[in-house]
Amino acid sequence: MSGEAPNELLRSLPKVEEVLHAPLIEALLVSFPRSLVVEAVRITIDKLRQQILAKKPCDTSINRVARIASERARALTSPSLRRVINASGVIVHTNLGRSVLAPCAVKAVNEVACGYSTLEYDVSTQVRGSRHAHCEQLICALTGAEAAIAVNNNAAAVMMILSEFAGEHEAVVSRGELVEIGGSFRIPDIMALSHAAMREVGTTNKTHVTDYAQAIGPNTTMLLKVHPSNYRLIGFTETVSVKELRMLADAENAQRATGEALTTTESHEVLVYEDQGSGAFLRLDSFGAWAEPTVTESLRAGCDLVSFSGDKLLGGPQAGIIVGTKHHIDRLKSSPLARVLRLDKMTIAALEATLRLYLDPERACAEIPTLRMLTEPAETVRKRAEMLLHALQNALPLGCAELDVIEEVARAGGGALPMCDIPSFAVRVTYLHGDALSCERYLVTQREIPVVARIKKEALLFDARTILNEDEIGEIAQALCAYFTSLNSDK
Ligand SMILES: *Cc1c(COP(=O)(O)O)cnc(C)c1O
Repeated sequence: MSGEAPNELLRSLPKVEEVLHAPLIEALLVSFPRSLVVEAVRITIDKLRQQILAKKPCDTSINRVARIASERARALTSPSLRRVINASGVIVHTNLGRSVLAPCAVKAVNEVACGYSTLEYDVSTQVRGSRHAHCEQLICALTGAEAAIAVNNNAAAVMMILSEFAGEHEAVVSRGELVEIGGSFRIPDIMALSHAAMREVGTTNKTHVTDYAQAIGPNTTMLLKVHPSNYRLIGFTETVSVKELRMLADAENAQRATGEALTTTESHEVLVYEDQGSGAFLRLDSFGAWAEPTVTESLRAGCDLVSFSGDKLLGGPQAGIIVGTKHHIDRLKSSPLARVLRLDKMTIAALEATLRLYLDPERACAEIPTLRMLTEPAETVRKRAEMLLHALQNALPLGCAELDVIEEVARAGGGALPMCDIPSFAVRVTYLHGDALSCERYLVTQREIPVVARIKKEALLFDARTILNEDEIGEIAQALCAYFTSLNSDK
């Protein structure tokens, strides 16, 4: 067929009407809107025409066109964003949606999504209220902050703070903290975007307090500290603490208040801001010295502002939370960016419900999935791995694979606790039929609820730390069973 002249091939392309009468398409028309099917057929024929013109070989038979068009129509009507089973052992998995919401957070989202809400309505005074009011008191109660605001995500929070307080001015930051978080978030780029001049100090491995002191000039308005979320400097290193930055800023501000304010029309203070990344409310003591600092610790040490993510260690929805002194937060609230970066009602509902769980830390660890997975004893994880093992032993055809439970290492993910090996247990599937690679692909591409596992050597591992419940165990068993069945039907 590819030997035919392009003109002949073009003439052999079926008409839209002809394809619509193909049995496959007629069957499709029973349940799919006609306009959608017609469009799918038209686009399919169009693409084939382009292929012919590009001299690529192609099959122009009606049945072939009908098949491609029907796949296209089906793809449009099936959801792209879907639930996934995470058996990878990476808890805050950025590609898989980071944190799973607590049941009460899901309920809260459902409530405000199904009806009207008090999003910007103050029921006590019956006048217009602020959407920023719903979470502020809770955040303050949990962190000891004077004031707080939540925006779209932590990248937005960093951007907002830099442009409000360091825009057209200078922020001093250590060369050891010019981080890239992934997904194109780099501190130098955000600085440029917010029109803050970046004054780098120190070296990659060592920055001293004198480096900051020497860098402060009349145009400096911020000492920025960035938590190295996804990496750690170890060995011959030195960083400057928030406490030291606070003392430096206080000394500079005192000096400006006495002398220079008299000579310049506009006087600026130097503030201390920490981008904390993960933002833990609770110190996860089981992780020892590697545990992330808590928001409260940074505030107590003297930060004017601290920002962190809502969906990393906190285990809530995507959000960026900013805490700090009231007059700084007030300035952020009245910035136009507060409107641009504001949260929607579903996120506020989920965030408020998640935050409320933290009022009782024990409840938080039990009910917020991210915290539960981080803190669950290995023994409990082993029991879940054994449940999966039994489910597989019952479900899989005899002789298709060897199964056992092995000790494994899970990860916090999401750029948190990068040095921590979290003890875990996984079910190892060693293939007697098929192989790990093709099974991994099958589980992701061929299942309505994709299952994400991890390949190790020739086996596939299902880490039980991130498997949520018995339903997921049943679903994994069904999915593996379907894989082995598909091997037989291929023959
Ligand atoms: C993750 C992270 C960010 C970005 O936060 P998002 O909520 O993903 O926008 C910024 N800074 C640090 C240090 C981080 O770890």
